[in-house]
Amino acid sequence: MNVDQIILNLEKKHPGEKEYLQAVKEVLESIEETYNENPQFETAGIIERLIEPDRVITFKVPWSDDEGNIHVNLGYRIQFNNAIGPYKGGLRFHPSVTLSILKFLGFEQIFKNSLTTLPMGGAKGGSDFNPKAKSKSEIMRFCQSFMLELWHNIGADTDVPAGDIGVGGQEIGFLYGMYKKLARKHTGVFTGKGLNWGGSLIRPEATGFGNVYFAKEMLQTIGESFKDKTVSISGFGNVAWGATRKATEFGAKVVTLSGPDGYIHDPDGISGEKIDYMLELRATNEDIVEPYAKAFKSARFFPGKRPWEANVDIALPCATQNELNADDATDLVNNEVICVCEGANMPCTPEAIEIFHNNKILFGPGKAANAGGVATSGLEMTQNSMKIGWTREEVDNKLHQIMRDIHHACQTHGKQNNGYVDYVKGANIAGFLKIANAMLDQGLV
Ligand code: NDP
Repeated sequence: MNVDQIILNLEKKHPGEKEYLQAVKEVLESIEETYNENPQFETAGIIERLIEPDRVITFKVPWSDDEGNIHVNLGYRIQFNNAIGPYKGGLRFHPSVTLSILKFLGFEQIFKNSLTTLPMGGAKGGSDFNPKAKSKSEIMRFCQSFMLELWHNIGADTDVPAGDIGVGGQEIGFLYGMYKKLARKHTGVFTGKGLNWGGSLIRPEATGFGNVYFAKEMLQTIGESFKDKTVSISGFGNVAWGATRKATEFGAKVVTLSGPDGYIHDPDGISGEKIDYMLELRATNEDIVEPYAKAFKSARFFPGKRPWEANVDIALPCATQNELNADDATDLVNNEVICVCEGANMPCTPEAIEIFHNNKILFGPGKAANAGGVATSGLEMTQNSMKIGWTREEVDNKLHQIMRDIHHACQTHGKQNNGYVDYVKGANIAGFLKIANAMLDQGLV
């Protein structure tokens, strides 16, 4: 495989799609050796077939605001690969959404879903719609219009969307309601559903919990744990919330949270009533970081800054892509961080990851370390198919075991001669082999 040539060709077909090209390049570089050891993959054109989505669905989403003004947003669904199961991946509503971002996320999702050991293919979708500061009825009208186009393309055995940035329980409810009306079916076509209409316990906190379970496994390999460690976390959304709770439960002190406007540092730790307070603020759809610093005297707000300058043992980037660059990585290394574990998708730039690897810091890539969310979505699909509901404990135990298994797979394929584990390589190879072999079995389709 000639990675540079493949990326060059891909760039010609998809000029300017930098996030997508970045994600493909990272995967190809780390699987190159394994790929070349298996000439049957080259003969079957596995890479060329894997890096292009099966299908890109694009549509317009017209909706009217509360004053009767008409708006038109773009809607997308990228059905990337269904070799090992129905297409599966979240929907993101955020003004920064582009085709490139969704293709990068869909591509990553293939490997992540493969790692979970559950039968799920890779997909992603969303819109450049900004749900911030919109009324509930505006959000409902937008979701209904979005679903009027999307519903033909999804189904419990075809393509199962879920939430992501800007799409939480409320949006899933509105989207599902419209799907149900149009399809005249009540099936497990979405995950992240409400608990009283097919949702799974633990799903809201699963990505953050899973992230901390994965970091715990990594820490164990060097005889460490979360106990008495300081932790910096970015964002305060779904993922950050779950990670904050679980890290605290494991005896760590979470000292930062952030938003696009800056970060807060609370040396007393963010736990208990402080987490509840953040959740209340979040429900208002307003900026949440600065008000926290006003409410709790121990906290300080650092406007326009990122949390990675804080002196911590463990860093969990849980906000968004490319939010931790080489300078941030250098700050963390200089402060003697021991573990960086991605809760978000691709939050660390390639340069930052190189710095962590060069300094032999434990580094958990998102496609392995945040797979707990989609794994629990897979558990929700199983419960829906069986028409049963597992208890909190049952789901949490299964999630914990899946994260242990993912960690083990990464170690198997990522352990280097000097004993250091390259989790990026391990995750990519483990995820890739399963998909590539399934594609081989299924012929040229
Ligand atoms: P949310 O929308 O719930 O939370 C995102 C958080 O990040 C918000 O607090 C947001 O602040 C903040 N944020 C956004 N942009 C920035 C920025 N530039 N700097 C600092 N903070 C920022 O999303 P999720 O928690 O669901 O998702 C977070 C990440 O995790 C994404 O990369 C997502 O793809 C990934 N992920 C999510 C999964 C899930 O189950 N939800 C599963 C696997 C991965 P504000 O609200 O003020 O904009």
